[in-house]
Amino acid sequence: MATTLTEPTVRALPLRCRNCGGAHPPGPHAICEDCLGPLEPAYDPARPLPDRETIASRPPSLWRYREWLPLDGAISRSTDTGFTPLIDAPVLARRLGVARAWIKNDAVSHPSLSFKDRVVAVAINAAEAFGLDTLGCASTGNLANAVAAHARRARLDAWIFVPDDLELAKIIGTAVYGVHLVRVRGTYDDVNRLCAQVADRFGWGIANVNLRSYYGEGSKTVAFEIVEQLGWRLPTAVVAPMAGGSLLTKLHKGFREFRDAGLTTGDAPRLYGAQAAGCAPIVRAVERGDERVVPEKPNTIAKSLAIGSPPDGGYAAQTIRETNGWAAAVNDADIVAGIRILAEDVGVFTETAGGVTVAAALTLARQGRLRRDDEVALCITGNGLKTVDAAQSASPQAPVIDPKLREVSALVDAGGSRRDGDAGDQITHQEEV
Ligand SMILES: *Cc1c(COP(=O)(O)O)cnc(C)c1O
Ligand SMILES: [Zn+2]
Repeated sequence: MATTLTEPTVRALPLRCRNCGGAHPPGPHAICEDCLGPLEPAYDPARPLPDRETIASRPPSLWRYREWLPLDGAISRSTDTGFTPLIDAPVLARRLGVARAWIKNDAVSHPSLSFKDRVVAVAINAAEAFGLDTLGCASTGNLANAVAAHARRARLDAWIFVPDDLELAKIIGTAVYGVHLVRVRGTYDDVNRLCAQVADRFGWGIANVNLRSYYGEGSKTVAFEIVEQLGWRLPTAVVAPMAGGSLLTKLHKGFREFRDAGLTTGDAPRLYGAQAAGCAPIVRAVERGDERVVPEKPNTIAKSLAIGSPPDGGYAAQTIRETNGWAAAVNDADIVAGIRILAEDVGVFTETAGGVTVAAALTLARQGRLRRDDEVALCITGNGLKTVDAAQSASPQAPVIDPKLREVSALVDAGGSRRDGDAGDQITHQEEV
């Protein structure tokens, strides 16, 4: 294993097995040797925690919550990721038939325009703590973009493995950084299996494999930011997309940690998971009332969520049940409609995963699972410019004209093409009895 020349100033926390509770020293290991359970960082319960004012006075990045992130000492890498906007969305709230709706907009995450910047920001500092000089990942696209961007900034070598059928923007948006990008013939699950072997063989830090225990904690910062940006309040419901199922479980952990720290009060939000119908193993488990996930072979335009054998799927299904939430699967046409609705109602252009989230929220509202008095946060996790092909067919045609005023006049006379969200689309809930 290669080491950096200077001693790192950052230290990673020790780990504990979520199954058997066994203690493990800090290291690039994600699985307990005794029971094969997942390892999680072990925080010192007696550590001093900041109050609201202290947190609010810190720079606007995810590191303002560093007491809940699995690293000690001075953080030097990716210090400027996080603290994306929380957007009030009254038009979408009306469409959903709920009291309030907000968009947590990780479509503008820095630097690689998806929520994967959060998890990689943590993983790359763990890599420093362990003296690793190469960062890698198995990715459905966004993680590839993030690992490439963060690794090049930190002057690390990067080896990135993706399924060969990814969207062009996600391939170019990785290759442009000058990293080792390898396209693997197969599904994400094939790529992931290969990366587990790669991690062992070459001693690299693979963000979502051997650094997964640290990496996953970055997702909690979505929950922390929602609470702080709502004025230290909890929403009543959150809708989040699910790939491996990690984000959904970490949202729950994040909300719970802020309540335990006295930074907010009230009931834990009901968590709702969203998947594409062409790859919905976690939704199916929730619908069956089961925590065993049956693997699927993905077939959907939502490639960023296309994990047929989700590593945290059972845990996500359990978390959804415990919070009295639910899950919904939406087809490809609904995903495209969801992209259009978010663009027209809120002015945010999201990728297919965001279309899944919006379409699932509409489905859940129609089922009466989202209620009239609900205050709902929707996690929009990626940028629409990464999957333009998906939106192309549904976007209005732009007329081509000669540079003549009368041609514009003709268009204006013809009534333009702007279409307003029509009231018939809105969901009205029955009076509760
Ligand atoms: C990875 C990803 C997710 C979900 O991630 P998991 O934690 O694996 O469930 C959601 N949205 C986008 C855009 C992603 O890239
Ligand atoms: Zn164990």
